[in-house]
Amino acid sequence: MQLTPALLPDLISAISQTIDNNAEEVTLLDQAIGDGDHVINLLRGLHALAAQSSELTKLDWASAWQKIGMTLMSTVGGASGSLYGTLFVSMSKAARDQTMDLKVFASAFHQGVESVKQRGKSDAGEKTMLDVLIPVANTLTQSAADAAPLSETLKSLPDVAIAGMESTRDMLATKGRASFLDERSRGHIDAGAKTAQLMICALVIVLAQNLTE
Ligand code: ADP
Ligand code: MG
Repeated sequence: MQLTPALLPDLISAISQTIDNNAEEVTLLDQAIGDGDHVINLLRGLHALAAQSSELTKLDWASAWQKIGMTLMSTVGGASGSLYGTLFVSMSKAARDQTMDLKVFASAFHQGVESVKQRGKSDAGEKTMLDVLIPVANTLTQSAADAAPLSETLKSLPDVAIAGMESTRDMLATKGRASFLDERSRGHIDAGAKTAQLMICALVIVLAQNLTE
C-alpha cells in the first residue's frame, strides 16, 4: 500500500476539521444523553496530535499508532480517551514488525476493536462508538479475506459507518453515561458513534485521494 505515515498530518487535520465542522451537532447529541464534553475531549487530543504530527511522519505505522494511543490516553480524558488510546496501542502491537497492507491493517484494526470491547466491557448493540467500529472492522476483515482492491474497500466503508451510527438511535444505552437514562436514552444517536463515523468518513477521503494520485 502506498499509504505511509507521511499522510498522518493530513489525516489528523481532516479529522480535526470534521469534528470542528460538526461540533454543534455532536455536542447537542452528547448533551441529550451524556455530559456534553465529548467534542472538547476529542479536540484536546487532536490538538495534541497535531503538535506531534511531523514527529509521527518519521515513524512506521506501528510506532506511530503507539505514540498516538499514548497521547490520546493522556490528553482526551473521558471514556473516549482511554478507549481510543486502547484502540491505537492495541493496533500497534498487532502490526509490529509487519509490512503494512490491507490484510495486516484489517487484522490490526480488528484486534484494536477487540481491545476496546474488553476495556469498555461492552459489545455491539449497547449504543456506543462500538456500533460503528465493529461493523467497520468486520467489513475490513471480509475485504481482506476476499483480497478486494483497497480502493473498493475504502468506498464501502462510509455507508457501513453511517448505518452503524444511525443504528444507535433506537438502541437502549447499557454502557457509559447514557445508560443512567435507561429508556430515555432511546431516540438519540450516540455522540461517540457519531464522531467515530465522522472520523472514518474523513479518513477514507484522504486515503482514497492518496491512492489515486
Ligand atoms: P464521558 O462519557 O466519560 O464523558 P466522552 O463524552 O468523551 O466520555 O465519550 C462518550 C462516548 O464514549 C459515548 O458516546 C460512547 O460512544 C463511548 N463510550 C462510553 N462508554 C463506553 C464503553 N463502556 N464502551 C464503549 N464505548 C463507550
Ligand atoms: Mg462526555
